[in-house]
Amino acid sequence: LLRCDGVSVRFGRHDALDAVDLEVAEHRTVCVLGPSGSGKSTLLRVVAGLQRADAGRVWLAGRDQTGVPAHRRGVGLMFQDHQLFPQRDVGGNVAFGLRMRGAGRTETERTVAELLDLVGLPGAQRRAVDSLSGGEQQRVALARALAPRPRLLMLDEPLGQLDRGLRERLVVELRELFGRLGTTVLAVTHDQGEAFALADRVVVMDRGRIAQSGTPLEVWQRPASEFVARFLGFDN
Ligand code: ATP
Ligand code: MG
Repeated sequence: LLRCDGVSVRFGRHDALDAVDLEVAEHRTVCVLGPSGSGKSTLLRVVAGLQRADAGRVWLAGRDQTGVPAHRRGVGLMFQDHQLFPQRDVGGNVAFGLRMRGAGRTETERTVAELLDLVGLPGAQRRAVDSLSGGEQQRVALARALAPRPRLLMLDEPLGQLDRGLRERLVVELRELFGRLGTTVLAVTHDQGEAFALADRVVVMDRGRIAQSGTPLEVWQRPASEFVARFLGFDN
């Protein structure tokens, strides 16, 4: 579904992405791991069409996305800091992408209700965003990202800032949800446990390059470099 060919992004003299090749097959979940500043968010932004690549191409379903604006790409992006609209209630947040797409009122209301059920917040439509806990806000952000039924769902640290218990529970729920919906997912995390639980494949990034990609088991059992081994916490 997604292919990146030699994608590079330069900020001044710094390569945020350096010739990144990446593929995500339909119905799969790929997790991007790597230390802070390794280019994970930049990669998602390029695929979403929010950041121009200085070199390389992004393909979605066999089509070159060069010059295709973000809203025409059919991808959903849940940002690292989830950025809910504070002045809208929960329902208004989830409905955002649907209204943008021109869905009618009845369809919007029905879809919002379904999505809130799906993320475990049934009936929360009229609640104010600032009355929700961090975990609940992340669920709303997830529902909002899912609302337009993107062919590719991208999540940037979807469970960041949550405590371990909640993360572990949500990882299981998400995995089940994506399986049920047949969603193709590209997710960023710096939590290995999360990546290994969610992903069919993992990609480890190091300073704008892909240090290794493979199944979680492959990467775990045979780290391709000292960097990967150290990142995974195998000292020596
Ligand atoms: P984190 O885990 O902290 O979110 P990340 O892997 O998502 O990190 P990116 O946000 O992709 O990292 O940033 C990669 C590099 O590019 C960093 O060195 C960052 O400072 C730089 N960078 C990102 N966006 C910009 C920008 N708009 N202008 C200048 N430099 C940027
Ligand atoms: Mg980031």
